[in-house]
Amino acid sequence: MTSPEPDLPELSVPTPSVVAMTQVSDVEVPAELPPVVLGSLSPSRAADFKTCPLLYRFRCIDRLPETPSRAATRGTMVHAVLESLFDLPSAERTLDSARQMLPSAWARVREEAPEVDTLFSEDTDGSDFAGWMESAAELLGNYFRLEDPSRLEPESREQRVEIVIDGLQLRGIVDRVDVSPAGDLRVVDYKTGASPREAFEAKALFQMKFYALVLWRTRGVVPRQLRLMYLADTDTLSYAPDAEELTRFERTLMAIWAAIQRAMQTGDFRPSPSRLCDWCDHKALCPAFGGTPPPFPQNPVLTDPRDDPPAPPLTP
Ligand code: SF4
Repeated sequence: MTSPEPDLPELSVPTPSVVAMTQVSDVEVPAELPPVVLGSLSPSRAADFKTCPLLYRFRCIDRLPETPSRAATRGTMVHAVLESLFDLPSAERTLDSARQMLPSAWARVREEAPEVDTLFSEDTDGSDFAGWMESAAELLGNYFRLEDPSRLEPESREQRVEIVIDGLQLRGIVDRVDVSPAGDLRVVDYKTGASPREAFEAKALFQMKFYALVLWRTRGVVPRQLRLMYLADTDTLSYAPDAEELTRFERTLMAIWAAIQRAMQTGDFRPSPSRLCDWCDHKALCPAFGGTPPPFPQNPVLTDPRDDPPAPPLTP
């Protein structure tokens, strides 16, 4: 025999009315909360940490200023021309047009980084500057030997890409993305230096794999080709990544981030001397060369890569 149901007070509460539902719907509830961001990493800063943890600290925590170099500044200017070139109708994308853009590209670089004016402060007769501009024009000539921009319609140029994976924001700016009619992606990066020797190819591809990973995670498509174009010696380096490799690369980035976090807690950013030290602006402060770094801040703050100074990679 079943006993009668007890009189449960909570069930005797009247069902909410439609009026209550209307009131709730007036409150804006975001469809999806943005992912929590615990830190950011760009390919250049991740490469800095891999190259030398102390260099990473000098750049991202101490934010020590760096002297602009003629080579890096010329690279920025040539990149600006190659970006603008694709604004022209395809038939007008000629070498002459590209070279005519150099003065305005130089003006843009000066506007964004006025410190580059110091590069030619002692060039009283203007001959250094003229030679430097000529070398930029030669790099553009080499670009046209590598490809014909009138036959290309890039999907994007200088595109900012980012994704948050397990709280780590991966972000960067991709020089160019091409998409074939079949939907295949090609990631292109211009280098104004010479192509690396075989032993350094993996290092050169680090940045490209970073972009490939972010594009894969944001679009769901593994880029078909990563293409580095070396304008100094008219060479290219092409590589076809696959999902398995990018998954491994993602683990590598996570390991780098974990190592950065450990170093943040202990303040232990060790110098890692190499031949690249000859191009390091901070050698005088480096213990590997008898220097003393500034005291480690009590509450160190990592700079968001969006605010990164245009620190170039250390390259011979
Ligand atoms: S001089 Fe070399 S070891 Fe020292 S911080 Fe610079 S890159 Fe690192």
